[in-house]
Parts: sequence; C-alpha cells; structure tokens
Amino acid sequence: MPKDVYTVEDLRGWDAATAGETPAVRLSVFGDPVAHSRSPEMQNAALEAAGIAARYARVHVLPDELAEALRLLPRNGFIGTNVTIPHKAAALGLVDEADPQARRAGGVNTVVVEGERLIGFSTDGPGLVRAIRADFGVDLRDMRVMVLGAGGGAGRAIAVQCAIEGSARLVLVNRTFERALALAEELAPAFRETRVKGPVARLEAAPWESDALTRQLGHVDLIINATPLGMTGARELSRVSPIPAAMLRPHHLVYDTVYTAGRTPLLMAADDAGARGSDGLSMLLYQGALSFEIWFGRPAPVEVMRTALMR
Ligand code: NAP
Repeated sequence: MPKDVYTVEDLRGWDAATAGETPAVRLSVFGDPVAHSRSPEMQNAALEAAGIAARYARVHVLPDELAEALRLLPRNGFIGTNVTIPHKAAALGLVDEADPQARRAGGVNTVVVEGERLIGFSTDGPGLVRAIRADFGVDLRDMRVMVLGAGGGAGRAIAVQCAIEGSARLVLVNRTFERALALAEELAPAFRETRVKGPVARLEAAPWESDALTRQLGHVDLIINATPLGMTGARELSRVSPIPAAMLRPHHLVYDTVYTAGRTPLLMAADDAGARGSDGLSMLLYQGALSFEIWFGRPAPVEVMRTALMR
C-alpha cells in the first residue's frame, strides 16, 4: 500500500518499503514538514498524462538526514527529487554540480540523478516569472517590486530573479534587516543603471517598520510575500497578514507565495484595499512544470497539472 509520507528509514530499505507498489516511486519531494506538499498530486497527474510509468512521493527528511537521503537516490533508481522547506540552501552544498541559476539563487529545489551524480537546479525564480505573467498579465521586468522575507530561501530566489530580469525597482524587506542589507549589496551591480527617475533609489533594503514600509509602498507596484506569515501549517502565523489593508492601495498587485485552501490574510487585506491579489498556487504550478521539463526534457502538461492542483 503506497504511503502518504515515506521516511529516510524507508529509503534505506527502499525495495522492501515499496514492495508490490506500481508504478514504482522514481521522483519525490524532500521536506520537513512535507505532509502538506501538493506537489505529488500535480506531478503524478503529469506523469500519468505523459504515459510515464513512475510515481512521485513525499519523503519526510530531517535536516541532519538530507545528505544521506540525497545519496540514496541513485541506489534506489530515482530520476530525481524536489527539495523544499528547509533544505534548499543545504542541498546546494550537497549536489555534485549546480546550474548557474541555482548557484545565484543560493538554493536547489530540483535534483536530477545522472548515474551516481546529482545535478541541482532552481525553478522557483523562473516559476514566479511565469506565475506573475499568468495571474496579472505583467512582466517582472516592468515592475517596481517589494519582496517581504528577503532573508529566506524563496525571498532570495525571487530577488535574484528580479535582478536577472532587470526589474524597474526592487525593495528588499526582512524581519532581520541585516539579511536584506546583505542581499541588496550583493544585487547592487544589477541595479546600477537608472530606469525610473524619481525620489527613490532603484534598489533599497528597508527595515520591517511601519514608517519605512509606508514610504516604500508609495513607490512599488508589485508586493510579494515570501515569509511564512499566513501559512496554515504554522498555527500562530496563520492569521497574520504581513501588511495590513490600511497600508495597501488599489493600484498594488499583491502576490502571496503562501497558498491555503482559502484566501490568505494578506490576500484578504488586498481585497479590503481594492487591490488585485493572487496566491502561491501558480508559482507552485510553474516551478513544478519546469522541474518536470528538466527531468524529462519535454514540455509539461501544464493544464493537467493545474487541474490536479485545483482539485
Ligand atoms: P525560509 O528560508 O525559512 O525563510 C523565511 C523568511 O520569512 C525569512 O526571510 C524570515 O525572516 C521570514 N520570517 C519568518 N517568520 C517570520 C515572521 N514571523 N515575521 C516576519 N518574517 C518572518 O523559508 P522559505 O523556504 O523561503 O519559504 C518561505 C515561504 O515561501 C514558505 O512559507 C512558503 O509558503 C513560500 N514558498 C512558496 C513557494 C510556491 O511555490 N508557492 C515556493 C517556495 C516558498 P528572518 O530572516 O528574519 O528569519
């Protein structure tokens, strides 16, 4: 009987743990926690639609188990794996080779097994670009963007993508301000050229304080939440919006990388302010579609994956 969540102990004795299961598990997502991940529904629908005899499963991997879990993939006949919270940065140091996008993003969310070697990729940033285009009909490069949570893995990947795209403006906000400052220094070369004339710099780090946020919100178009605020799994955070409705304006586009069954607190705040908002399901969809394309070298059945996610 296939399990909802496998463990590293299962990976150690994989043949016995998965005896009789068809099709065989050859792809996975490693995370801690991982039970909430919707990737299996989406990827299994894609595998079935593409006629690929393989299954995608969740594996609960603790931080001190990640190195071993990754090394068990080739032995167990895996094609690859996704890596999610909190393992992306650590995975970058554990793969044999990482593509330039992953190195710049500072994390790996997609691993490909090639013989005994593990190759790391990051599809979070490119997935976000596609999500913003699909949900709002705009390109990241034309936007003045505020990233909330610019110290974390997702926030960093998004900020790096803004630098790669050459976004009109980028404001990095983080609870631990030093992290936002350090990232701003690192990305500064990409923002030297002036694109927007006005009273504010093209690239700024801002502390998570009401006055600073209010000032910056007057000079951004797209607000992206990359903190876990609003996540259902984290009980004490699930009802908190990173920005209150009173600070949002109708012209703002609000993208919450968090996704829940309903509207997240940030999206409810956007609704109250008359602003357009969208949740992280589209980013999940497109980063997953890009992972599929990396594993199989062919276009992903995006509509099948979307339907599976919406179910
Ligand atoms: P992470 O590396 O642990 O980073 C968490 C970030 O959130 C840090 O910047 C942290 O700030 C900040 N933060 C944590 N708790 C906070 C709080 N109570 N108040 C204010 N800021 C807080 O996590 P991650 O991997 O980047 O993931 C972050 C979120 O992104 C996840 O919750 C997930 O829902 C979402 N995500 C979505 C997708 C998607 O496909 N939709 C993909 C990736 C991630 P400090 O630096 O001060 O600790």
